[in-house]
Amino acid sequence: MSRIIRRGDVAAFDASTDAIVCGLGGAGACAALEMRAAGLDVMALEGASAGGGSTRLSACEMYLGGSGGTSLQRDLGIEDSPENFRRYLMACFGEFADPARVDAFVAGAAAHFDWMESQGVPYRRSLFTGRDVVALTGDSLQYTGNERAWPFRDLATPVPRGHLPADAGHDGGKVLMDTLLQRVEEAGVEVRCDHRVTALIQDDSGRVCGVQVKADNRLHCLEARHGVILCLGGFIMNERLTRQHIPDLAAVCTRHGNPGDRGDGILLGVAAGGNAIHMGQAFVGVAHYPPAQLTYGIFVNAQGQRFVNEDVYLARLGAAVSRQTDMRAWMFIDNRYFARPDYHDTTVIVAVGETVAEVEAEAGLPEGSLQQTVATYNRHARAGHDPLFHKADTWLAPLESPPYALVDYSLAQLRPTCFTLGGLDTLPGGEVLSPDREVIPGLFAAGRTAAGIPRTGEGYASGMSVADATFFGRQAGLRLAALARSA
Ligand SMILES: Cc1cc2nc3c(=O)[nH]c(=O)nc-3n(C[C@H](O)[C@H](O)[C@H](O)COP(=O)(O)OP(=O)(O)OC[C@H]3O[C@@H](n4cnc5c(N)ncnc54)[C@H](O)[C@@H]3O)c2cc1C
Repeated sequence: MSRIIRRGDVAAFDASTDAIVCGLGGAGACAALEMRAAGLDVMALEGASAGGGSTRLSACEMYLGGSGGTSLQRDLGIEDSPENFRRYLMACFGEFADPARVDAFVAGAAAHFDWMESQGVPYRRSLFTGRDVVALTGDSLQYTGNERAWPFRDLATPVPRGHLPADAGHDGGKVLMDTLLQRVEEAGVEVRCDHRVTALIQDDSGRVCGVQVKADNRLHCLEARHGVILCLGGFIMNERLTRQHIPDLAAVCTRHGNPGDRGDGILLGVAAGGNAIHMGQAFVGVAHYPPAQLTYGIFVNAQGQRFVNEDVYLARLGAAVSRQTDMRAWMFIDNRYFARPDYHDTTVIVAVGETVAEVEAEAGLPEGSLQQTVATYNRHARAGHDPLFHKADTWLAPLESPPYALVDYSLAQLRPTCFTLGGLDTLPGGEVLSPDREVIPGLFAAGRTAAGIPRTGEGYASGMSVADATFFGRQAGLRLAALARSA
C-alpha cells in the first residue's frame, strides 16, 4: 500500500483548499479553528462518521498552569510560576523531554485555558483536594499527577493543575468536543466525515501539497495549497505496530482509545520522510486508587520486595510494575485499609491470613521475604518516614490490623488500560521533522500523532494528553497560517 502519491501522478484534484486538517478530534478541531480565525479556507477530513476521536471519550482533564497560574488557579488563590511548572515537567520526562516544546507549553498553557473558556467550555471555580484520578464532585481543579510524591515534591512546589469541565465527571470529553465541533461548524470549516485519509501527495521538492482520501467507495485527491496537518491520534489499536513497539504491554493491556487509533498519521508522516520517536513509550494505568485509602497499602514483587512509593500517580505505578519480573506485583494491605479498587473490579485476592507469614506462604513468596518487607515498612511507618521510597507521611501507617490480604496487580491479571505516547518528531509549531531534524515542507502534526509533552508513562499525569493535543493543535494551525501569510 503506497502512502505517498507523486504530484505529477495526479491528473486533476477533486477539490482544492488552503489547508487540510486530517482527523477531527481534539488536536484537529483546534488546528482548524486557528486557521479559520486567520482567514484560511480549511477542510477537515474525518474517517469516522462524526468528529470527536479519543478526545470525546476522555474525561477532558487538561494539565495546565504556569504564567503565575491559569485564571482558574488564580481565582482559587493558587500561584503557579512558569519556573515551577517547567521544573515539574522537566522532572517528569527527564532526558525524554523536548525543552523547546516544554518552554512553548509553559509560556502558553494558562492562556490556552482562557481560550478554552472563550470557546464555551464551562469550568467551576472550585478545588477538589482528595486523591482521585478524575474528581467526580463537579469541581474543576485537582492534583492529577506525581506533584506531591517523591521525588517530584522535592524538585518543584506541588500545585494542582488538572482542569476539568464543570460537573462532567468522566464525560468531560463530550462537553469539550460538542463545544469545539459546534465552533468548527460556525467558523465555516468544510467538514467531511466518512473520509479516510489514505495517502499524502508530495511534489518533486518534497513539499506536501495534498491528500488522497477514500470516501463513497472511491479515492479522491484533494489539494492543500499551504499544507496538511496530521491529527490522526495514536496507534494503540494497531496490532502490528503495538506488537512491534510495545510487545510486552500489547500482550497484556486493554487498549484505551477509539477504533481510529491505528497509527495512520504516524505511518503517513514517516512515508513522507518524517521520523517517529519514543515509539516504545506508553501510558499504563494501574489504578490502585480510588478509594484513596488503598494508598496505605504496599506493593511487592515476586521477590517479596517493595519497589515504589505507593502515593504515585497510577501511570507511574504502571511503569514500575511493568519493570518487575514477569510484570508481576501484589498489594499487601491490612483489614483497616482494605477495599476494592474502583477502576479494577476484577482484582484477585491471592492470599489471606491472620499473620504476614501465613499470607507469604499461601502466596508462595520466598520464605521470610514478605515478613521482612512488612516488618521494615511498619517500623519506619511508626516513626513517620519511609527511608526506602519516601512515601509521603500522609499515607504512612503501619499495616498491623489482621486479617491481611495480598491482592494481585500483575499486568497479565489486571489487564490495565494502555495508550501510546510515541509519534512524529515535530517542532513546537507542528512542522514534521526528518531523522536529520529538517522540516518537511507543508507537513504538520499534533496530538498523539506527534511525540508531545507526555513522553513516558512514568512521568505522565492525567490531563497531559488532551492539554498537549489541543494546545499543539492550535500551535500547528497558527504556524501553518503564519507561513501561508508570508508566502
Ligand atoms: C477513555 C479515555 C479517557 C481519557 N481521559 C483523558 C483525560 O481525561 N485527559 C487526558 O489528557 N487524556 C485522556 N485520554 C487520552 C486522550 O483522550 C487522547 O490521548 C487525546 O485526546 C488524543 O487526541 P488527538 O486529537 O491526538 O486524537 P483523537 O481525539 O483520537 O482524534 C483523532 C481523529 O482522527 C481520526 N482518524 C484516524 N485515522 C484517520 C484517517 N486515516 N483518516 C481520517 N480520520 C482518521 C479518528 O477517527 C479521530 O477522530 C483518555 C483516553 C481515553 C480512551
